[in-house]
Amino acid sequence: MPSTFAQLGVPKFIGHALARRGITQPFEIQAAALVDAMAGRDVCGRAPTGSGKTLAFGIPLVANSGRADPHKPKALVLAPTRELSDQIATEIRSFSGRARVAVVYGGVGYGPQFSSLRRGVDILVACPGRLEDLIDQGAVDLSAVEQVVIDEADRMADMGFIPAVRRLLDQTSRDRQTMLFSATLDRDVSSLTRDYQQDPVRHSVTEATPDVVAADHMFWHVARTDRVAVSARTINAAGPTIVFCRTRRGCDRLARQLDRKGISAAAIHGGRNQNQRTRALRDFANGRVQALVATDVVARGIHVEDVSAIIHYDLPNDHKVYRHRSGRTARAGKGGIVVTLVPPDQIREIRYMKRRLGLHQPITDADLSAIRTFDGGTGRPEPRRANGGQSRRPSNPKRKHRKPRHPTSKNRPRHPRSNSKRPASRSRGKRTPARTRS
Ligand code: ADP
Ligand code: MG
Repeated sequence: MPSTFAQLGVPKFIGHALARRGITQPFEIQAAALVDAMAGRDVCGRAPTGSGKTLAFGIPLVANSGRADPHKPKALVLAPTRELSDQIATEIRSFSGRARVAVVYGGVGYGPQFSSLRRGVDILVACPGRLEDLIDQGAVDLSAVEQVVIDEADRMADMGFIPAVRRLLDQTSRDRQTMLFSATLDRDVSSLTRDYQQDPVRHSVTEATPDVVAADHMFWHVARTDRVAVSARTINAAGPTIVFCRTRRGCDRLARQLDRKGISAAAIHGGRNQNQRTRALRDFANGRVQALVATDVVARGIHVEDVSAIIHYDLPNDHKVYRHRSGRTARAGKGGIVVTLVPPDQIREIRYMKRRLGLHQPITDADLSAIRTFDGGTGRPEPRRANGGQSRRPSNPKRKHRKPRHPTSKNRPRHPRSNSKRPASRSRGKRTPARTRS
């Protein structure tokens, strides 16, 4: 596997910008997908949270997107949540050079979004709802979009966005490149691939699922009435923690209860407005609050660096949710702790979920001494216990064999988009002439 971005053909200005952030070695999904993606091929990438998907699609967007006319972006990234959209835009801006990157989502005023679109946006990051709204108002026209990314496609499906995603894709250029990323490729997601991607190269980084293996998982018997106290002590011992609750009201209540126990906590969920959510995330990221109390809506795609612990205060609905929540810690090869509070009446459910996850840790009494010792003041946990023989870094023992990429890679013309499987509505709307990549 090439060990630098330059070896993958990443333009120098991007490589330099990444190096300034300490990013020098491509992660597996990046090494696997970048060459094809920069050559303009459709990519269908399956990879868990924290595996580095943003750069895998962000670099090709910056490398290839052209200069946009007003209201007519050249590249579009669709993401399910506001937080995720912000994070994608921020990450891409860190190496975007002269490309203009803007982000649009609901729950905030239209003014700034109108004016940046009027000035011209090369790479637009958007939540589907607001984007359709802006199109209806004549502020955006997708006909010049030549590169599309669908990020967290599985999450889009969970949130009911697939019809909107299809309507939006139908308005983009016929010759576009379509990159789709998802932690899972379930039915809805694979139908997107079938209908909107052309001979995609498929990359999968799933074995030994990093987000689950990299963390230290603990399952504790805790009576419902003791959950607040145990959570407070865990947060005290572990450091920055995200606590997951099932309901919005549960989040608000727990944040208050933790506060009363001397733990500063902020609630973040879909019932809070954008400013409140942004503030909560910022306060947590810069250490002003010790804990973020969240619903599953915000579970995916959020990056706060160095989250030491996850507490499943309410049980996740299933093993997939467990995986997504837990993926907030132990990101990018770092360690982390995941504590599940197991009430007596839910032991069977937990056992079943653990089997699905391949986790074999026993359910024990709460044991704070098992949590950690700090490693040299970075605030990251260092477990005292042996880790069940598991590597703490995302390992890839069975590294995927890459499909050979297209022989003529770079100058290969785009596929003719005459595939009969494409929805008829793709012929609607204005078309820009096919762009030749050279
Ligand atoms: P995903 O979208 O797959 O959940 P992200 O793209 O958000 O993952 O990346 C997770 C974290 O890893 C981010 O903080 C990102 O800046 C960092 N990261 C990504 N690629 C690299 C790399 N090659 N080297 C070091 N850090 C990286
Ligand atoms: Mg992501």
